[in-house]
Amino acid sequence: MRSYWSYSLKIYISKKDFKKGEIYRVMKISLKHLILFVALLSVGLTLISGITAGYRVNQQTLIENTLETNRVYVQKIASTTDNFMKSTLQRLEYSAKDIPRYLEQGDSKALIANEVNRLFEQDNTFNSVIITSASGEIIAASPQSLQILGKQVASVGGRQALAERKPLITKPYMSITGRLIIFISQPIFDGDGNYLGFVGGSIYLMEKSILNDLLGEHFYKDGSYVYVVDEDGRILYHPNKERIGTIIHGNPVINDIMNGGSGAKRLVNSYEIDMLAGYAFMPTTKWGAVSQRPTEATLLPSKDLRNQMVLKTLPFLLLSYIIIFYISNRIARPLQQLAHYARSSAENETNTEIENVHAWYYEAIQLKNALFKSFSFFQDKVNFLIHESTTDPLTGLVNRRTMDEHTKKWTEDQTPYSIVLFDIDRFKRVNDTYGHASGDAVLKFVAEEMRRVSRNNDICCRYGGEEFILLLPETTKLEAFDVAERLRKKLETTASPCGEVVTISAGIASFPESGHYAMELIEIADKCLYEAKSTGRNKSIMAEVSGANVSIY
Ligand code: GH3
Ligand code: MG
Ligand code: MG
Repeated sequence: MRSYWSYSLKIYISKKDFKKGEIYRVMKISLKHLILFVALLSVGLTLISGITAGYRVNQQTLIENTLETNRVYVQKIASTTDNFMKSTLQRLEYSAKDIPRYLEQGDSKALIANEVNRLFEQDNTFNSVIITSASGEIIAASPQSLQILGKQVASVGGRQALAERKPLITKPYMSITGRLIIFISQPIFDGDGNYLGFVGGSIYLMEKSILNDLLGEHFYKDGSYVYVVDEDGRILYHPNKERIGTIIHGNPVINDIMNGGSGAKRLVNSYEIDMLAGYAFMPTTKWGAVSQRPTEATLLPSKDLRNQMVLKTLPFLLLSYIIIFYISNRIARPLQQLAHYARSSAENETNTEIENVHAWYYEAIQLKNALFKSFSFFQDKVNFLIHESTTDPLTGLVNRRTMDEHTKKWTEDQTPYSIVLFDIDRFKRVNDTYGHASGDAVLKFVAEEMRRVSRNNDICCRYGGEEFILLLPETTKLEAFDVAERLRKKLETTASPCGEVVTISAGIASFPESGHYAMELIEIADKCLYEAKSTGRNKSIMAEVSGANVSIY
């Protein structure tokens, strides 16, 4: 079987073709490859767009979820912190109400010392607690290690408390001992409303404090964190201690907090990191809490998901490719077969082969039918033309050209053969007497008798007007002579269509005995025929070989 499967994808432009001004075939892409390409492209694109869309949706969902989680989480932290500060102020307020009573007692020093210790140790809210007199003298302090008892209050927070004489949460400031602190205090008034001093506690921002306990735990361990700012945007709490006390500028979240807002936003922070932040304002302190997580950390699972999707779709992709390959083969096969048979349409079996092509879809069936019909038509036409060009239309005998082909082949193959050349005697008279049509009928009649005396593989030829040649392969001169005689005798005893008997004169020669070429044989047979005519007609004469000369007898 010839290979008509073209697996190569060739694109070529022939310079020669261009020169001629013709492009026979600029591109040669097989249908199978085209179908494969289109199908694979569409499957590939579908998968890529599916995975990309899934990836995008997943990223969006992760971002929205993280923003919402941070918003809810920081809201909780903010309200916890705010409530804590509120309750701290309340605790100091209760204390401030009790202190005038302690001061009236005889052992007032011990009582207020007890009170500051209680406040200090109660729940580790404060890093230090003091009570002052109205003049600002520290009359109780905890822990003892501070050694400030009896001294005049000098801290920014203490002085602010003395000056303002009202509940206070200060802004962060640097203490005398070099610590960044906030100071929370309540004024002490007696029953008559006379100012007696204040009770206040400090929280160290950069060391272990209640803020660390409240805010230090965060549920993500992946770069996400919480920080707290005051109303000026100054950082009060941050996991990175170096940042505590610094002011944040130009951060949209902080700007929102300063305006009392809460919510969630995606932003780029001071370190140029893309962050997902939830933020909440605390009404009591006017602070703001921010919980934020790097967007990259949030989106990490989505990359995993995308890789998973790619991995999971690979077997499907492979299966689709196998199915597409199989289908494209099946689609292209009948067309390729039909194209192949169309190219070799000159071969006889083409129609049978086309019939055997398995055309299983509409276009292929149409093409198959069309090819089948056109090939049948052309084959009939060709057969007709072959018949026309090889036979004599009047008698149906082969013509001279066909005869030449046979003798040429036999000469090449050295196949021995004989020829009987005969001419109807006085045929002109038949024409003259009975007319041309009767003459034609006589010619047909003679041709028919000629066929009758010949064998299957003998060739009956109309050589000229009323001259005929009978080619007899594998036949000796004598056998040929017998055949000529049989025909002659048959004709001389049978009435022809014109009503008269017509006779013939014949000359016989053979290959290779009489000559090496067909023309030599015909010449010799013609001489014999002439001899027959000139010696009375209605006779057969065969060539005789004697030495180098061929004579007749
Ligand atoms: P001879 O015995 O010498 O052969 O005498 P003849 O009359 O047969 O002489 P010749 O062979 O010269 O004449 C051949 C004639 O055959 C001449 C021509 O009119 C006639 N003829 C040739 N072809 C055809 C044909 O196709 N049909 C008819 N009806 N006549 C033909
Ligand atoms: Mg003649
Ligand atoms: Mg004649």
